[in-house]
Amino acid sequence: MTAPEPAVVDPTHSLPPHTQVLIAGGGPVGLATAVELGRRGIACVVVEPRRTVSRARPRCKTLNVRTMEHLRRWGLADRLRKHAPLPVSWSQDVVFCTSLAGRELSRFTGVLGLAPDGDRFAEVGQQAPQYVLEDVLRQAVRELPAAGSSSARRSPPSARATTWCPSPSRTTPGNGPS
Ligand SMILES: Cc1cc2nc3c(=O)[nH]c(=O)nc-3n(C[C@H](O)[C@H](O)[C@H](O)COP(=O)(O)OP(=O)(O)OC[C@H]3O[C@@H](n4cnc5c(N)ncnc54)[C@H](O)[C@@H]3O)c2cc1C
Repeated sequence: MTAPEPAVVDPTHSLPPHTQVLIAGGGPVGLATAVELGRRGIACVVVEPRRTVSRARPRCKTLNVRTMEHLRRWGLADRLRKHAPLPVSWSQDVVFCTSLAGRELSRFTGVLGLAPDGDRFAEVGQQAPQYVLEDVLRQAVRELPAAGSSSARRSPPSARATTWCPSPSRTTPGNGPS
């Protein structure tokens, strides 16, 4: 499985003059907020200084059950799993051993919600680095039209969730959305 293409924000993309919600920070929380709001037809803009998602920022290895359930609700769980480096079935145990090729001392199976457990949860967790999650969420934000809700009808027709990364020429104070 390969990681998705890094989501790069078009530097020529202009910041909309008005938005209903301005989200400062396009980490998992900001992007998830944009997906949630955008799906409800609420226009929002994520302002994030990182133009691309860095692979050199090692954070997060396990997306837990609740995170995966949110992704399922947004229709993104399968997409995330497709881009994860390991299928979940390869990473459900924790093994203690004397060395990588040494003797196994102890094994815990079905850890961290990575294996199905009856009807306790709708989605098992997934081992995946944070940059995969952020790429999937950035892509989802870019795909979101704002449509269908009463909030959307009050919004400009072009309203949608947008990720906007300031470039040096666009950081003029007072140039931002209201
Ligand atoms: C080593 C490590 C391992 C971890 N492992 C796991 C794990 O296995 N599972 C798990 O669920 N979690 C894990 N975490 C925690 C997880 O990384 C955080 O919970 C998560 O990143 C929090 O998301 P966030 O969006 O709140 O913040 P962040 O990810 O920190 O995002 C904040 C964003 O705001 C941007 N920003 C900063 N300043 C400004 C500004 N002035 N204006 C606009 N934007 C700004 C930043 O560029 C950044 O993109 C781990 C963390 C670390 C450090």
